Amino acid sequence: MHLVIDEKRCKGCNLCTLVCPYRIFQPGHTPNERGIVQPILDRPERCPNCRLQHLYGRVICGYCQKICPDQAIRWEEDTPLARTKVVVEA
Ligand code: SF4
Ligand code: SF4
Repeated sequence: MHLVIDEKRCKGCNLCTLVCPYRIFQPGHTPNERGIVQPILDRPERCPNCRLQHLYGRVICGYCQKICPDQAIRWEEDTPLARTKVVVEA
């Protein structure tokens, strides 16, 4: 699974940047085509949902998704044979 911000829904309120315990959501810098500065994702593969959502059969943590007022955050299936980034945390 991988984390996605829906560009059509996000209004750049940055609430998600306040709640993530991993600080995966960071304030963005560049306006998109709609003039909205969306958050950027810092190593989103660290989110436990990207690795464990299938195993647990539910969303884990999920603070970002719960606080987003525009339902702009979701996880999508990886495409088969897509490269997967592995993060080793000290
Ligand atoms: S589910 Fe939790 S850890 Fe994952 S990106 Fe959202 S707030 Fe961060
Ligand atoms: S909380 Fe939702 S609408 Fe607000 S910046 Fe984050 S993804 Fe966008």
